[in-house]
Amino acid sequence: MRYTDIAIIGGGLAGSTAAAMLGRAGIPSVLIDPHQVYPFDFRVEKLGGDDQLGRFVSTGLAESVLRSATHSGENWIARFGRLLDRQPRQQYGIMYDALIGAIRAEISGPAEFVCDKVVEVKTSAERQRLVLAHGETISARLVVLANGLNVGLRRMLGIEREVTSYCHSISIGFDVVPVDRPAFPFPAMTYFSERPSDLIPYITLFPVGERMRANLFTYRPATDPWLRTMRRHPVETLNAALPRLRRLTGAFDVSGDIKIRPADLYVSTGYRQAGLVLVGDAFATTCPVTGTGTDKVFTDVARLCSVHIPAWLATEGMGADKIDAFYDDPVKTACDAWSNSKAFSFRSVSIDRGPYWVAQRWARFLGYLGQGWLRRLRSRIAVPSPARTDHAASSPSSSSSSSSSSSSSSTAPSSAL
Ligand SMILES: Cc1cc2nc3c(=O)[nH]c(=O)nc-3n(C[C@H](O)[C@H](O)[C@H](O)COP(=O)(O)OP(=O)(O)OC[C@H]3O[C@@H](n4cnc5c(N)ncnc54)[C@H](O)[C@@H]3O)c2cc1C
Repeated sequence: MRYTDIAIIGGGLAGSTAAAMLGRAGIPSVLIDPHQVYPFDFRVEKLGGDDQLGRFVSTGLAESVLRSATHSGENWIARFGRLLDRQPRQQYGIMYDALIGAIRAEISGPAEFVCDKVVEVKTSAERQRLVLAHGETISARLVVLANGLNVGLRRMLGIEREVTSYCHSISIGFDVVPVDRPAFPFPAMTYFSERPSDLIPYITLFPVGERMRANLFTYRPATDPWLRTMRRHPVETLNAALPRLRRLTGAFDVSGDIKIRPADLYVSTGYRQAGLVLVGDAFATTCPVTGTGTDKVFTDVARLCSVHIPAWLATEGMGADKIDAFYDDPVKTACDAWSNSKAFSFRSVSIDRGPYWVAQRWARFLGYLGQGWLRRLRSRIAVPSPARTDHAASSPSSSSSSSSSSSSSSTAPSSAL
């Protein structure tokens, strides 16, 4: 039997971040995951925007981890084949497996990693008991359940999931390469849908190493034949759906695999239990279109590891009353509510035909157009300032940590861009 304070089940974004934070805080913990090296997984491929980077900074890991990512400092915003704005934006492209690898590299003693699968969990208000597939047993004061979408262990613990929106959106990931030119003219770009009938909110193009990665989102049903056509003839299908995109990209090709992944929105029920806390996707998912899944993960883990766990360990026992403090944490609940409301408002502003949402769509278009126009005007009349160096502009630690995005416009897709 191995004894520890905290047993973390699942070494994805949430579990690995928790282990790295607890190790730095000197809290004994064991992270258990069946993969020594996280395998390829089509999930978040970029982090960006002041709020999201601020949340990452609050874990203490951003600066070292983002050294493995590809930085871009400007994102073009476009629609109807027209460049609306060149937004200054700190954005980091990184594939999910590389992100998890970089976070796991930050795990140090007294946190340790065990490559195994948890097959059984028994919880109580005192100590928790985990059984691993290879037969080892772990005794811990608290279990952090960070096993993502897997349902087996949750069911064993009497936790169910309630789907709030089936196939809320579908994410499509692929690489694009310019034809007849060495590079695309933009550092990164978000191109919004031209017509609501295409059921596409936007496509985002961003560099990851030498590659230009594309994340395209759609609100089509999972059975829609359009998805098969997209997989077989990606360039033609994309050109038909976003006919004026080429005005900005020039001719392009699609290289490598095309990953297509539907996402359900769900929340957990029956999770308020002694000795156990759920974080990240294990607690609730959000829509990838919003780009707020990592906001939720970083908020959950930062609040848990820097506020709640140190307080819980300071006294005997791990009753449900202690655990409730995490689920009722106002920073966590505000982030969850903001992310969830964005999932629905983003869908409506992209495809809804009602007059309110048509007006919202045009307001957003005119907002970006006006911002871009003002930015160009200001840059023409501004005196160049030497004070802001490239390094300062691109350092993630220069982002402010705040929960202010909960109050930002419900339709402004800040993290997603
Ligand atoms: C297609 C897609 C695109 C997305 N794009 C974005 C984006 O652009 N921006 C954004 O912010 N968010 C995005 N998200 C959301 C984001 O990816 C997730 O919110 C986040 O990755 C969740 O991390 P997690 O650690 O909770 O789960 P995971 O990363 O899934 O980790 C779960 C871990 O648990 C382990 N595990 C499972 N069962 C066991 C067991 N029995 N024992 C031990 N270990 C176990 C698994 O091996 C895995 O390592 C996207 C999601 C999807 C699906």
